[in-house]
Amino acid sequence: MKFLSPVVPLAVLPLLVQAHAGKYAHHNVIPRQASATGSDIAPPSQIPDSAGAAPSTDSFVLSLTSINPTALPLSAIVSTAQPAPTQEVSPIYPQGAVPPNIIGAPPLPDDILQKDYPTPDDVPPVNSAEVEEWIREVANSGVPIPDIPINLEGGCTVAGNAVAAADTDRSRCWWTCTGCTRKTDITQCPQKGTFGLSFDDGPAPYTPDLLDFLDQQKLKATFFVVGSRVYYRPDLLRKQYMEGHQIAVHTWSHPELTTLTNEQIIAELGWSRRVIQDTLGVTPNMMRPPYGDIDDRVRAISVAMGLTPVIWTQGFDTEDFEIGSGGTTVQQSLQNWERITAAASTSDKGFIVLEHDLFQQTVELATGYILPDAIGHNYTIQPIVTCMGLPLNDAYMETNNNQTHPDPAQGAQAIFTGPTKALLPPTHTPASASGPGTSTSPSNNVNKKNSNSARAVFSVLGMGATSLLAGLISILA
Ligand SMILES: [Zn+2]
Repeated sequence: MKFLSPVVPLAVLPLLVQAHAGKYAHHNVIPRQASATGSDIAPPSQIPDSAGAAPSTDSFVLSLTSINPTALPLSAIVSTAQPAPTQEVSPIYPQGAVPPNIIGAPPLPDDILQKDYPTPDDVPPVNSAEVEEWIREVANSGVPIPDIPINLEGGCTVAGNAVAAADTDRSRCWWTCTGCTRKTDITQCPQKGTFGLSFDDGPAPYTPDLLDFLDQQKLKATFFVVGSRVYYRPDLLRKQYMEGHQIAVHTWSHPELTTLTNEQIIAELGWSRRVIQDTLGVTPNMMRPPYGDIDDRVRAISVAMGLTPVIWTQGFDTEDFEIGSGGTTVQQSLQNWERITAAASTSDKGFIVLEHDLFQQTVELATGYILPDAIGHNYTIQPIVTCMGLPLNDAYMETNNNQTHPDPAQGAQAIFTGPTKALLPPTHTPASASGPGTSTSPSNNVNKKNSNSARAVFSVLGMGATSLLAGLISILA
């Protein structure tokens, strides 16, 4: 793969966009944008919605500090886009390789994904020997698990969740609906001007393109990975890890965690931890709840399992996830991003933004527009662990210096002080989890009956790009 020259002056950016109209430059490796000092800084550029496309009657104008010269035109980043070609993972990091920048890291294990795992994209059964072991781990952690009712799927606006959503006494601290946080949570970077960079829901077909861009820009990110995605793309996870990105937990099947039983939450977090550890040899100690769906029950279980909850700065959601489904547009996502940068400029703290590496549109948006603009703003762009002032080895249980990054369970008794609920004792005969190739579904999977489109989207992401499109079309039909 050819590399372009190291610096492209930023000037007349709308014209550059227009020059690439109709071309698909997705796999070009992008040179580092000019730094925000010196004469090659572009003035804020106005990017018409119709850049590179037929004139539009919309009067949509964005002001970004810089964009990627090879960005797709906005008019091409749409839900109906044809699947772009995907890259093979390269290099493949073999067993025994040791990450160069994590002190004390073990070599990559040899038995990558040769074990039995639960059915991908389903809430795992809770009667396996593994889950029962993790239930004991939580019970023995000393962290009280609050007795908070299970929510209905659908979040804050569902009628049956009205009391929980109001949370008038903050006894639930349901972040999704009230923005309530506890001392356990990370929602910002401490230093003003610091952008805690994270991407959720991979590793996915277009993650390699994002990695190329980050590599060229010498940027590192935190990837909140879904265990079921790791199952299908272990080599890609190894590449992310070996090249210095932070890996963190984003559950096994991406459910709304507040809708699950305690034991199911444990199974979701436990299997995600496990598949990452089997792949990398290390276990993350940070997690992000899917949809930001966390209350004190989910929080307590997470910290009892050694996982610090990381959400995003309240309101700092690009809503890029919805571009692929047509629920939002790339223009709306960029407006969200501009609102985020405006809010960041008036905050005395740094910030964390919700973005995804799940779909080609989200990767195109990030590499074409959002990250170049972030670079143009001269933000300090770092993984979450780094923006928190911690070394990368503090991001994994096996290599964590517990002095600088203490176990999140410490002090939890003082946080979760309400009534508690005992966990189900392990009364079952230990049973193996069902393998992913089996056709039988877990009988205790309460979420299956409420499958929604988001869940279905996840279920097709083990497929290649072509079948992925077909899968999405069938879902959205
Ligand atoms: Zn997610």
